Amino acid sequence: MHTLTSTRRPRWRSLALLAICLIPLLWPLQRLAEHYYQDELASQNRQTLDLYVANLLGTLHRYETLPQILGDLPALRAALLDPLKLEAVTNANRLLKDIVDQTGAEVMYLMDVNGNTLAASNWDKHDSFLGRNFAFRPYFIEPLQGRLGRFFGQGTTSAKRGYFFAAAVRHQDEVIGVLVVKVDLDHTETLWGNTPEQLLLTDQNGVVVLTSRPDWRFRATRPLTDAEQEAMIAIQPYPTQAPQPLNLTPGAWLIQTRDIPETGWKVSILAPRLLVDRSVQTVVAIGGGALLVLMLLLGLIMQRRRHYMDRIELEAKGRQELEKRVIARTADLEGLNNRLKKEVLEREQAQQELVRAQDELVQAGKLSVLGTMSASISHELNQPLAAIRSYAENAEILLDHQRTEDARGNLKLIGELTGRMASIIAHLRAFARRDRHAPESVALQPALDDALALLAKRRRAMAVELIRDLPDAPLWVQAGETRLRQVLGNLLANALDALTEKANPRRLWLSAERRDDYVYLYIRDNGPGFTRQALEHAKEPFFTTKTRTQGLGLGLAICESLMRALGGELLLANHPEGGALLTLQLRVAAPGANLQPSEDLSA
Ligand code: ADP
Repeated sequence: MHTLTSTRRPRWRSLALLAICLIPLLWPLQRLAEHYYQDELASQNRQTLDLYVANLLGTLHRYETLPQILGDLPALRAALLDPLKLEAVTNANRLLKDIVDQTGAEVMYLMDVNGNTLAASNWDKHDSFLGRNFAFRPYFIEPLQGRLGRFFGQGTTSAKRGYFFAAAVRHQDEVIGVLVVKVDLDHTETLWGNTPEQLLLTDQNGVVVLTSRPDWRFRATRPLTDAEQEAMIAIQPYPTQAPQPLNLTPGAWLIQTRDIPETGWKVSILAPRLLVDRSVQTVVAIGGGALLVLMLLLGLIMQRRRHYMDRIELEAKGRQELEKRVIARTADLEGLNNRLKKEVLEREQAQQELVRAQDELVQAGKLSVLGTMSASISHELNQPLAAIRSYAENAEILLDHQRTEDARGNLKLIGELTGRMASIIAHLRAFARRDRHAPESVALQPALDDALALLAKRRRAMAVELIRDLPDAPLWVQAGETRLRQVLGNLLANALDALTEKANPRRLWLSAERRDDYVYLYIRDNGPGFTRQALEHAKEPFFTTKTRTQGLGLGLAICESLMRALGGELLLANHPEGGALLTLQLRVAAPGANLQPSEDLSA
């Protein structure tokens, strides 16, 4: 994440830089807008100005020729010729008033050659011009010189600004008076409508005479010359004798001017530059805004692109990482596989080793058993041999002394001892004989009956009760006839041996069952049962607890060995209710052809 933000920041910086570079583009836009709006305003104002000038000139022209025409009126001439005649003056007054009413002029008045006002249209007003002298005004002087009198000025009596037209009144080519028409110009001081543009009208002195801004009125747009100053004082066109300069803020106005040659005036329209500036500002703002939006959009697109690139890069990195991991994992797995293969090989070798070791162990076990056995055999055989020797030596001595009866007794003892030795050797032969025959199908019940028959006499003598619980159908097992009988005989003999140590009642239980692939034969007695030590060691050769019956300790060892060879098992246990419980586990066999013993019994 950190690397992403650090790479994004310079993007924004470059965008800002770009924006700064693009800002100068706004300048031509501003210039363009300025030109456009200025031209627009100028053409608009030019029209206004033309209209205004036309209107003003129209007003003036309407009255320009009036004094000349009216000068010929007999009533006016009569008043001039006979000024003391009240009737003539009254007529003139009335006539002038009528004409003023009809023409819309502000005032008309008639002066004699001295400049005294004889008749006036406002004769009946309190500020009437009657009797007043205007000889100082140019409009009186000029007609006397044969010209049309023109003058702009503020009325000394009315304080109203007006334009004065004057013409000489003649009688027989002689000037007898001057007729003046004053046109009110106060109402021409405004432009049409409530516009932000201002009107500025200056006279030949450069003094503002008409303006839409009252505070500009009678201000000088340029310094007056001395001559102009003097003339001004003489003819009093303005209410002030020292016009203040007009100070327009430079650059604040867009000015358009028209000259009116016939009056020496200049008419100007002043449009506040603010109007243009505002529009230009709007345009520049819109332009700037558009630029900004464009920048932002561009920035956004660039950022998106950056994000996209980053993601692609990240994904590619992720893929590479994954591939790397897959490769590493594959290598790991291969390594593991190789290790496993090696381990399997090692295991196999170890197994072979083990089998070999086991074989060796078996061999060693056999040797060890052989050792133990040979020790025991030599011990077992040495005893009777020593006895036989001493009996034999004794017999010799007895025979020397003619004690034949005693010698016979010794020989009998010797015979018994050799019988015992033969029995030991016979047992050992049985022990060694085990592998000679392959197992065959043998019926269990007849074999058991045979074994029981051999012990029947002893059992009856001991009053042992036999409790049989065997199925009627023969139970076929894998065994050898003789070997099975030998095992059964041994076990039954052991049971009888155990029962001798117990008082009546003596019982022997025999039961069998078939479960899965095995036949189980249970031989139980109610004797003292196995001691703890016997349970552990009874199957070992030469282990015996019997002293009275001279046990050899080979019975169970031989049984175990025979059972193993038959693929069965011998289990030793004590019954919960007391006494020993021996279990013979034998493999089930297919029913055999005959129930007769097949093995060589004599063996
Ligand atoms: P031996 O009969 O010569 O002693 P065995 O190998 O037949 O040798 O028996 C070993 C020992 O197992 C016996 O000495 C005895 O202690 C014990 N034993 C065998 N059968 C029984 C039994 N039915 N009840 C109690 N103890 C038994």
